[in-house]
Amino acid sequence: MPQNCPKCGRPASSQLPFIEGFCQDCFFDKHPLIKLRHAPQATMCPRCDAYRVSGRWVQRGDTSIDEYLFNMVCDLLDPLFAPKMPATYEVHILHEQEQPATRLKQLRVKVIADAEQFTFQQEDIITVPVTSILCEQCKRTSGGYFEAILQIRASTGKLSSYQEEAVLSFIDERLTASAQSQPPLKITPTRGGIDIKFLSSRLCRSLAKALAAKFGLLVGVSSKVTGRTRTGKTQSRENFVVRFPPFQVGDVIAHEDQLYQITGIHNGRYALIDIESNQRRVFSPKELVGIDWELLNDRIHEFMIISVARDSFQLMSQHDYTIYDLPHPPFPIAVGNTLSAVKWNDRLCILPPDET
Ligand SMILES: [Zn+2]
Ligand SMILES: [Zn+2]
Repeated sequence: MPQNCPKCGRPASSQLPFIEGFCQDCFFDKHPLIKLRHAPQATMCPRCDAYRVSGRWVQRGDTSIDEYLFNMVCDLLDPLFAPKMPATYEVHILHEQEQPATRLKQLRVKVIADAEQFTFQQEDIITVPVTSILCEQCKRTSGGYFEAILQIRASTGKLSSYQEEAVLSFIDERLTASAQSQPPLKITPTRGGIDIKFLSSRLCRSLAKALAAKFGLLVGVSSKVTGRTRTGKTQSRENFVVRFPPFQVGDVIAHEDQLYQITGIHNGRYALIDIESNQRRVFSPKELVGIDWELLNDRIHEFMIISVARDSFQLMSQHDYTIYDLPHPPFPIAVGNTLSAVKWNDRLCILPPDET
């Protein structure tokens, strides 16, 4: 009894062999020979045309561009085919319009598949998008290339050597801790501080943020167009300026008839304590720069505690031996200890003891 295809009803013949109960046309319709495991994606270096395949870069060398692109497409597509029946593939790159390889946004590829055990052929056109990423070799050899620059500056004048060392050792620690291996940073001393060039603007951005949070810095970002990628996208270079603000932890400042001391930096924000009311406030460096304040550090003097009563105590200036009577502060005190205080607007304001 002749076998009929349950899908199209045609009988089996030498021209129409059956596979798994169906005629080959219906079988290959259900299990196409040209089916990719996932969408293809080509990665090419915008400088040297090297392409990346399974994590390594293939340099073009002397190969002609046509042959080279053909190799790339084969390397990309080969592992993506997973036919149910063994097949061979032929690929042809379609040049719709002549264009230099460096302008490639995508490749259109005609694929012809032949089933190995049957006389059956399928044809399809696959589009392979192309992205530009600088290859390892170009990254290493092109000292001049960088995506971002981090400029570390003082608020005025030059970065102090303490600030410079603190920042550099912080960056070093962060990079050592990160799992990725990094090429050595290009650090250049400049008039106002230091400049560091980065191959990755993402890394530069994350370091600028981390530095700002750690040291309470002001961050400025600007970007400059430097060219175009092979895909026609504008390429830009980012500029991060992190600046030490004109105040630091320990400073005493006056603002709107209140006296504050900067007690610390938490997540990039400055913690301040109102010296007289003991209330705490938090300012971002930008907010603090924006308000009107006066630095009173040079009015801080040392005083010795000469007597302590229940509600009051006496202090003597170490500077001119004047004696002051004051209400008991909100922290423990003992005769013979010294305290720092600021004489300001005809009153003496006691600084809270160090919070260390
Ligand atoms: Zn059929
Ligand atoms: Zn390259």
